[in-house]
Amino acid sequence: ITQLWAPLHFLGFVYREIRHSLADMERMFTLLNVGAEVADRPTAQPLASRDVAIRFDGVGFGYDAKRTILHDVSFDIPAGHTVAVVGASGAGKSTLSRLLFRFYDVGSGAIRFNGTDVRELSQDSLRAHIGIVPQDTVLFNDSIYYNIAYGRPDATREEVIDAARSAHIHDFVMGLPDGYDTTVGERGLKLSGGEKQRVAIARTILKNPPVLIFDEATSALDSRTEKAIQAELLSIAANRTTLIIAHRLSTIAEADCILVMDGGRIIERGTHRELLAHGGRYAEMWRLQQEGEALDA
Ligand code: ADP
Ligand code: MG
Repeated sequence: ITQLWAPLHFLGFVYREIRHSLADMERMFTLLNVGAEVADRPTAQPLASRDVAIRFDGVGFGYDAKRTILHDVSFDIPAGHTVAVVGASGAGKSTLSRLLFRFYDVGSGAIRFNGTDVRELSQDSLRAHIGIVPQDTVLFNDSIYYNIAYGRPDATREEVIDAARSAHIHDFVMGLPDGYDTTVGERGLKLSGGEKQRVAIARTILKNPPVLIFDEATSALDSRTEKAIQAELLSIAANRTTLIIAHRLSTIAEADCILVMDGGRIIERGTHRELLAHGGRYAEMWRLQQEGEALDA
């Protein structure tokens, strides 16, 4: 029974927490295979503090033995600080966020929360501390209310609606046939990428966790909505330990530290000013985006 239950339980976890597309069955099986490894140790302890400092300590990782994705990745996010990650598609940015959520275990090195290896922490308590807005949000086939309240099931209706307002999704919901009771997801009303992102943001605002992960959290929004929500995200990230993966550099210029990734390695790090002065990859990316925005305007 236990043997059967573990993968089923994990499947449920995958569905609920990671919200990868269920249509992608091949990927699902990959997830299932590695999922067996991510289990609580008998000695696992809950994470005690809400002040969380995170350290990646020489982390190496591959989804399979044939290919290493991350090579010796080390960085710190002091409690309450924001670290941003930028780099080309496929550089390994989302992989960092999945390891941080302990969706997979590292191949070498360690990820530590307040000095404790995440493999020594109970998964429930680890995940209770983290709010993640993933690149692709898959919604439950349930009401939009449920999909937001899932962030904190004991929240009051007012709190759910406040979170929806902060994520700029309330007016949209009020325009749906059954308002907050409208069924969404694969078998309900299909929402656009940007609407799903705003549901995920509302859920995270409601959850109010001490650790935040935004993985290109506003990439599907039009630039006006993105600007408005960005301000909201920056205010909730203040004083929280935050990892932001950004596609638009202008949104992370204020981060305490910016990591530039390429081919699974950190190739540059520093503040926005330091990286511009350095005149390397980041400076080049910044110049190209400035030119692009000038063309759009
Ligand atoms: P980024 O977010 O920077 O675009 P990712 O971290 O998503 O990059 O991916 C890094 C590399 O890992 C890519 O080459 C990608 O193809 C590979 N990868 C991502 N997810 C999986 C997976 N589940 N199984 C195998 N390879 C994967
Ligand atoms: Mg990614």
